[in-house]
Formats: sequence, C-alpha cells, structure tokens
Amino acid sequence: MDRRELLRHGALASVGLAAASVRPVPVWAAGGRDSGVPRANRIIFFAYDGMTWEDLSMARYYAMRHRDRRLEVERLMATGASGAMLVHSLTSIVTDSSAASVAWSTGRKIVNQAMGVYPDGTQLTTILQLARDRGLATGLMTTTRITHATPAGWWAHTDNRERERDIALQYLDDGPDILLGGGAMNFTSQDRDLFSEFEEQGYQVLRSQEDLRGATGNRLLGAFTRDHLPYEIDRMYQGAESPSLADLVRKGLEVLDGSERGFVAQIEAGRVDHANHQNDPGAALWEILAGDEALGVAMDYVDRRPGTLLIVGVDHATGCGGVYGRGTAYRSSNEAFDQLTLRRSSYNHLRSVIGSDPSPDVVRDAVRELMGLELADADVARLVEVASGDLRLGHPRAHGDALNTWHQALTLMGGNSSLNVNYATGNHTASPVPVAIYGSGVPSTGLGVIDNTDLFNLMVDALGISFQNPYMSEAEALQLGAVVPAETRPHWA
Ligand code: ZN
Ligand code: MG
Ligand code: ZN
Repeated sequence: MDRRELLRHGALASVGLAAASVRPVPVWAAGGRDSGVPRANRIIFFAYDGMTWEDLSMARYYAMRHRDRRLEVERLMATGASGAMLVHSLTSIVTDSSAASVAWSTGRKIVNQAMGVYPDGTQLTTILQLARDRGLATGLMTTTRITHATPAGWWAHTDNRERERDIALQYLDDGPDILLGGGAMNFTSQDRDLFSEFEEQGYQVLRSQEDLRGATGNRLLGAFTRDHLPYEIDRMYQGAESPSLADLVRKGLEVLDGSERGFVAQIEAGRVDHANHQNDPGAALWEILAGDEALGVAMDYVDRRPGTLLIVGVDHATGCGGVYGRGTAYRSSNEAFDQLTLRRSSYNHLRSVIGSDPSPDVVRDAVRELMGLELADADVARLVEVASGDLRLGHPRAHGDALNTWHQALTLMGGNSSLNVNYATGNHTASPVPVAIYGSGVPSTGLGVIDNTDLFNLMVDALGISFQNPYMSEAEALQLGAVVPAETRPHWA
C-alpha cells in the first residue's frame, strides 16, 4: 500500500466514515514505526479450535432464545474488525490443528502433523519466542492438554505433534511463563516426575481449582486433569471437576498483567473441535458458550488496558454441522432447535452411562434423562446395537465414527421432536473460518478475506518487531517427501 492510500485510509477512519465504500485495509499493511497505527505491547490471541460459522450461529440463536442476550463474540465482531480466514496447510487443502497453529505463530505454512519445523528439519521461530527474547511475558491457556497441538504450536518443535511428552520436556527446558490446561498424564511417569522439576525451574505447580485460586507465582504450570479438561456440558450438569476456561483466563491475565514490558498469550477454547469430530451439538454448544464467557473476560481486560490487541481466530472448521429448516415453510425449525436445551451431557458421558452391553431400560432412561428424548421400543433396540458396536451409522473415513454414530442414530429417532442439527463429516474441512480483532490498532474497516499466516504479521507488526521466518514452497516440501503419517488413531485422542 502506498503512502497516499494509507493517509486516505487513516483520514477516513479518523472521521468515522464506515467501510461500505472503502476497500478494507489490513491493519498490518500499514506497518513500520511511522505508520501512525497505535502499537500494542500486550497481545491476547483467542483461538477456537474447529468452530464453524454454523456453530457460531447455533450458539447465537441459543443465547438469543434462551438467555435473552448476545454473545460476547458478536459484540466483538460488531465493534472490532472482522472477516474470513483461509486455513489450508502447506501440502493439504485441509489443515490439522498443528499446522494451523504454527501458521499463526510463525507466519509460515508447514506440513500437517509437524510443529515449528519443515520436512528438512529447518526450525521456525514462534511469536512467543520472539516476545520472550524481547523481555515480554508469555502464556498458553487451553481446555485441552497443555501439550496439545494448538498451544504447543506456539512454542515447541517436533515432526510429530503426538510426541507430547517431548513437548512437555521442551516446556521444562525453557517454557512459557504461564501454562494452564489439562494433560497431567504427560508430566508424570514411573521414572520421572516433571512437576517437581518444573518447581525447580521456578514454576508454581497447580493441580486443582483451589490451587488456581490461591496461586501467587509469576510462573505457573497448571495441569488440572489427567487428559483434556472435561466438556463444559459435563462440568455444568454431571459434576466433572475442573476450573472453567474463564477461571484460567482470569488468573492467567492477572499474572501476565504484572509484566512491565507486556506479554503475548494464546487462549484456546480447544474442545469445540472434539465435540464436532464426535458430531455432538450439545457438547459443542456448551464449549462455545464457555469459550464466550472466557472471551468476555479477555475483552474486559482489553477495555481496561489500552495497548492490548485481542485477536479471535478459528484454526479450521470441523464437522460442518448446521441447523437445518424443519416443517412446512420451515416453521417448525425453532421448536426442533429448542430440543438442544434439554441436553444434560455429552455423547461421551451418555455412552459411559449406557456401557457396551446395556439393557433396553438403561438405554431408555439414560436418553430420556441426558438427551431429553422419549424413545420408541424399536429405537431403543437400535441403540442397544449401537452401544455394543454392532451398528455403525457414523460418517465413513471419519475420526470418531464410533461416537458420531450416536448422533446419526439419535437424529433418526424421536420423530418431529428430534433435533434439527446435522453434520457433513466427522473430520476437518477446507472451509474458511471467522476471524476478528479488537482493541488497540484496529481499523474501522473490516479485515476482508485473509490468510491464517497474516495473523503472525499482524502480531509482529503491532509489537514493532521486524522478523520473517524462512519460506518453503509446497513443491519443495513434497520433494522432501513430506508424507503425513498414516491415520492410526484419532489425532485428538
Ligand atoms: Zn484444530
Ligand atoms: Mg486445539
Ligand atoms: Zn480436530
């Protein structure tokens, strides 16, 4: 963009003439110290894993119909700048979470399943490492294992994201100041207790809600559950124990705020993705609502603290579920959708209650109590087959088909009172995703359509850092034999 264009954009923005007639100018395109764009020394990157536009509208309808309010993310998109983001990885039109996370953290596309490295072993420097080298504090907060792809993609380097114990060791060797999430399983083994080694490195180790509340250190390692944090719907209704994402964000931001030179932090609502792999709209809805509450905490912080830039992004779409029209002229759509309000657990929990060899009564009672659905005898018999694994109705070649079978089965049941949400797949898709920015340095125009790597440029530019990682083309990567390891198990397992 030339200087004249920049001035024109700046002048229009300053008198508040809105976007309609002006081509959106990405905020980072201004660049440089003399751009006049306000600079930030605090960056909060809020990631939703696997959330689609349809999921967002589903949560929006729920909030409007049943909570009589708008979502925080809607407020953010209305008052900040929003757009759509393209998310393909270096060699695949469908990205996984690690390649997508690394695109944000390094400004470069890599091969799926790797983290911070090209196939020839060349390492990329992440935004958290650039920030750390300049004296800023750094943080990662998530509802998944803290060593999982999205948080780890901002720090670790490995050719296989599933080596999560190695990732824990990389954090120990030299880690971000704040690490809050699940995944204690990767910090303990028979021969080694990494928690005590983290304590020796100056971390306060937190294992419970009480630990989190009382935390006073300026370096925190919180691992509140063995695996991922529980689904929010199970935390709300089934007594699953864990802090909420909002709890993590409150404490994390409180500590990071003490850093005089500022900070860069990634927050992840990480299990929308898991719910969508499983085609579980009840679990997905509550993950989005819990994410929205945490986002509200971050927005309040931004409102109080000028010089903070908040970026909200999605790494890719998962499942492509949507609310579909029901009845004559679609007039039964709202009532069918309201069936979602009766849900009291995830399919995961439902399945654990029913077990693999249930009596018809167990199935009927569990579905009534947890899904709010009355089943006919024939439906109960079908679900007994589903429970035993004899009947698979899930999407073929999809992660989690044993679980998304439950959704496909249940949507065939309950007649007109069944829920009108269904999914295209149990996998990630190539769809563009929502992106929005809020706080310091946000233009009054929209973002337009951007690439996921652009968010790295936006962050370094806001921080006044000039840095580019080495580039590799798709052809070079393929020549190096960049083959994604065979799908041996669900990558989110
Ligand atoms: Zn993901
Ligand atoms: Mg993730
Ligand atoms: Zn996924």
